[in-house]
Amino acid sequence: MTTALNLVNVSLEYPDGGSTLKALDSVNLTVSEGEFLSLVGPSGSGKSSLLAVAATLIRPTSGVVVINGQDVAALAEADRTALRRDKVGIIFQQPNLLPALTAVEQLLIREHLRGNPLKEARRTAGELLDVVGLSGAEHKRPHQLSGGQRQRVNIARALMGSPSVLLVDEPTAALDHERSESVVRLLRRVTDEFHTATVMVTHDTEFLPLTDAVATMRDGRISRALVPSSRTLVG
Ligand code: ADP
Ligand code: MG
Repeated sequence: MTTALNLVNVSLEYPDGGSTLKALDSVNLTVSEGEFLSLVGPSGSGKSSLLAVAATLIRPTSGVVVINGQDVAALAEADRTALRRDKVGIIFQQPNLLPALTAVEQLLIREHLRGNPLKEARRTAGELLDVVGLSGAEHKRPHQLSGGQRQRVNIARALMGSPSVLLVDEPTAALDHERSESVVRLLRRVTDEFHTATVMVTHDTEFLPLTDAVATMRDGRISRALVPSSRTLVG
């Protein structure tokens, strides 16, 4: 299996009064293409910090981040931005959709801002909205969509440009149980279909069996465990 995301000995420190706080403490993590990893752990244990470092949004204090074989630290700013744009999909708890835009426009805005021709992007956007179960809702605006549907738009938007790494921070925190389950199942399907290396921070332990492995964070440190044969139990 090809590694899509690799963190080697990654530490992240924040100044904390007179001393420093280690948000990440020598984290090692490898996620392969098509692998769906859950990340659990108490509040403040470093989960969002790990995603921010993996998303190249924050530079670690030390250690190496490799995305698709590229050492992020070795890249110039513009190349790092391009890598993030082309290879990393980011999904946060709040979908952050623009109120005035329709579902399909949410997916096209980035292409539009880049001045790219929209014909091809329009086709891709339509296909992705179909994948996430929103065909027929392409022209609805956020206020016309349910919370679950808005999160689906968010997921479809993150898939524009076919990322190899998908980073998801508590995607179900604002959703009821049924919608939460369908969002996690969607992320499972997307991971299988698009072969993304998917890392999902979650508090919903009941959905862990839908993922391939579980990593636990505590005080900035990570431990990783396989969930053997769990998928056959859940189907
Ligand atoms: P989690 O997502 O698991 O709740 P975070 O990654 O958000 O944890 O935070 C890990 C630790 O880093 C916490 O102690 C938090 O207070 C601290 N932290 C996070 N972001 C910052 C920041 N920008 N400045 C200072 N400390 C931070
Ligand atoms: Mg967090």
